[in-house]
Amino acid sequence: MKTVAKTKIWLSSPHMGGKEQGYINSAFEQNWIAPLGPNVDGFENDIAEFLNEESKVAVLCSGTAAIHLGLKLLNIQSGDEVICQSFTFSASANPIIYMGAKPVFVDSERDTWNICPILLEKAILDRIANGVKPKAIIAVHLYGMPYKVKEIQAISEKYDIPVLEDSAESLGSSVDDINCGTFGNIGVLSFNGNKIITTSGGGALITKSQKEKEKAVFLATQAREQTVHYQHKEIGFNYRMSNVLAGIGRGQMEVLVERVNARRDNFKFYKKELGNNKNIEFLKEPEGFYSNRWLTCVLLPNSEIRESIRLALEIENIDSRPLWKPMHMQPVFEDFLNFSNGVSEELFERGLCLPSGSDLQEGDLKRIINIILTIT
Ligand SMILES: *Cc1c(COP(=O)(O)O)cnc(C)c1O
Repeated sequence: MKTVAKTKIWLSSPHMGGKEQGYINSAFEQNWIAPLGPNVDGFENDIAEFLNEESKVAVLCSGTAAIHLGLKLLNIQSGDEVICQSFTFSASANPIIYMGAKPVFVDSERDTWNICPILLEKAILDRIANGVKPKAIIAVHLYGMPYKVKEIQAISEKYDIPVLEDSAESLGSSVDDINCGTFGNIGVLSFNGNKIITTSGGGALITKSQKEKEKAVFLATQAREQTVHYQHKEIGFNYRMSNVLAGIGRGQMEVLVERVNARRDNFKFYKKELGNNKNIEFLKEPEGFYSNRWLTCVLLPNSEIRESIRLALEIENIDSRPLWKPMHMQPVFEDFLNFSNGVSEELFERGLCLPSGSDLQEGDLKRIINIILTIT
């Protein structure tokens, strides 16, 4: 008997808009095959225009590089403590280690699944009582859902600790019509292949001033001083984005809003078809919150049911994935302080990310829900 492999459904595929190739071609025609050039400038302007007029944007080779340079701009020193949302991807926390600093992990609340303001304040007070005031807070808008920006900003101001806003998963999300990426002292975007728009690999640093942007670009180009010969007074990095890849970014920015709408439509479809099932929970948008629904996530009653759904999808050649494993549960971070309340551990146990690409067809979505409904 011959079995025919079912068409693969990915978790989150790159989805080109059609104009990308044109921008790449112009880079080739002008021989701008370098980490600077018209596409880099154009892509930075496109992002700034989308976010708001005040934002200054430096595009870089990855979101991780942007977090690293963000911590440099915030003047984090070796031995400093940096608070980081525990429920996130490791790339939020790794740059703290690159800096020789120490992460202090803080758990999530249930309304947005992001850093809990109550626990954050508790952590800050604990560290101050121990004579080590944290130097920065890394807060993350996970899966596109904004964190509680008002509460986190208020704490940041009260204790005078800057926020590095990891907006890698949330380009196109907003709170009260203010775009994610512009709330923190420093914002970070990612254009990795699985994100809402992609340059195959890339990221951006968002600052409030031209001076900070210039500092970031300086550090990202090997900290080369403005002299004829190569002169260096600081350790630099090679973190700029290629002008070829920035061309992909320019094309992607033209379809960003369409991509957000398509992902939100995926969420609506899942919610409509599965939302009445008492075993399946979805994350609601709090009042004023607008999520790009980068990935649609569901909570199942327990990890056994979660795994049986994941495996049933896998047999049908459909990608799905447990939610992020919290950083305080990761072996590599086990020696660091953490303030936990059980929320992210429970989300990790019960949660599943469903296929959420902006190029999914209704037939794909139906295939997925039919499998889920046979299990729950
Ligand atoms: C993707 C991601 C990053 C890192 O971005 P890269 O461009 O892959 O380096 C950082 N934080 C979060 C939450 C992410 O999802």
